[in-house]
Amino acid sequence: MLSDARTAGRTIGFVPTMGALHDGHLSLVRRARAECDVVVLSIFVNPLQFDLKDDLERYPRPFDADTELAAGAGVDVMFAPSSDEMFPENELLTTVRVAGLADVLEGASRPGHFDGVCTVVTKLFSVVGECRAYFGEKDWQQLTIVKQMTADLSLPAQVIACPIVRDADGLALSSRNVQLTAVDRAAALSLNRALHEGVEAIAQGCRDVDEIRRAMTRELTAEPLIQLDYADVVDDQLRVAERIEGDLRLLVAARVGTPRLIDNMGVTV
Ligand code: AMP
Repeated sequence: MLSDARTAGRTIGFVPTMGALHDGHLSLVRRARAECDVVVLSIFVNPLQFDLKDDLERYPRPFDADTELAAGAGVDVMFAPSSDEMFPENELLTTVRVAGLADVLEGASRPGHFDGVCTVVTKLFSVVGECRAYFGEKDWQQLTIVKQMTADLSLPAQVIACPIVRDADGLALSSRNVQLTAVDRAAALSLNRALHEGVEAIAQGCRDVDEIRRAMTRELTAEPLIQLDYADVVDDQLRVAERIEGDLRLLVAARVGTPRLIDNMGVTV
């Protein structure tokens, strides 16, 4: 069906997700809808990218609600393969690995995570074929890695970055937010506050990377319900910034009650 559409000159927009759709996912669908003729959404809770079995089991899977949301947002083709369909032999002998970029930040905390992401995204790109593929800046490291991998392997996708969608109080939307109790949710706002602290420090003229990291860390450690994983400032290759100049990303990750949450903000100095 997709190759017929392409032969007829129609463009394909592809939005890969793990389901439990929220407005962040739907913002990608809306962008694809506006820019492409056919919109494909995949839902696959990719077991290869979970380092913790519990996290995989707890991951929400509201399939009927997702189907309705996808149809309402204008998805033409929904692709929700089972693990058996994705991995018919049950064991893959091939892994796609982006050296370096996959080992820091999230990769350091979740060994093998990005190998799982890259292997499955490569497979999805190869199933969908030539397309514009929409990814959220919410997963900044993933976006950086997928762009690198797509260029390195000449995969037939053009990767498009979409801005982070947040709740009115600043919490970045995430499928894992449903696991937050009301108290944890309030504590989770400190991720966003920490990023604002960092951005504000830079806006005020601070050029000391350690000082900015400390400002973010202070905000997060002041919240007793948060277990901080990292708060860092990196350049466009995810290297810890040595100087505050150019395009930088402030990134935070923390466990809040059960789920582990991530968030980020960009600054250009
Ligand atoms: P996931 O289902 O968590 O794997 O996410 C699927 C896609 O949606 C990824 O490209 C994410 O970066 C993107 N996404 C998730 N949450 C948000 C958000 N709050 N704003 C923008 N994009 C998002």
